[in-house]
Amino acid sequence: METKDILLDLRQKNNLTQAKMAEKLLVTRQAVSRWENGETVPNTDTLKIISKTFGVSVNTLLGLPRNTICQVCGMPLEDESNYSRETEGDINEKYCKWCYHDGGFHVADTLDELIENILPLQNWASPEEMRKLLKVQLSTLEYWQK
Ligand SMILES: [Zn+2]
Repeated sequence: METKDILLDLRQKNNLTQAKMAEKLLVTRQAVSRWENGETVPNTDTLKIISKTFGVSVNTLLGLPRNTICQVCGMPLEDESNYSRETEGDINEKYCKWCYHDGGFHVADTLDELIENILPLQNWASPEEMRKLLKVQLSTLEYWQK
């Protein structure tokens, strides 16, 4: 999707008029109208405000591909409500909100420990097999490369 469609979609999903949307984002109604017509694209600062206000990442607003899994625990991040946030409220697209919050990581010390924490949450047929699989999968994630 293009930015103009994404913004229109966002406004409609939130049941806002162009005027109400403009008020929320501290811009003019004309600016909102121009975004939706594809005449202009919000500037970086406005994109950040939109991101914070609606809980949608800047990359998504720009129609760019996103990380699909948390770079610590491998949890799918398709649902944007699972993204972590910086203390100022900016979305951090790399991690889920459980692994990263309040400005820091809240993760088991080792990958083995993390896997032991994750295993009981799943209904694996064979925990042994799953443990091996998780170890291979998760060790490729950025956080565990360090
Ligand atoms: Zn995570």
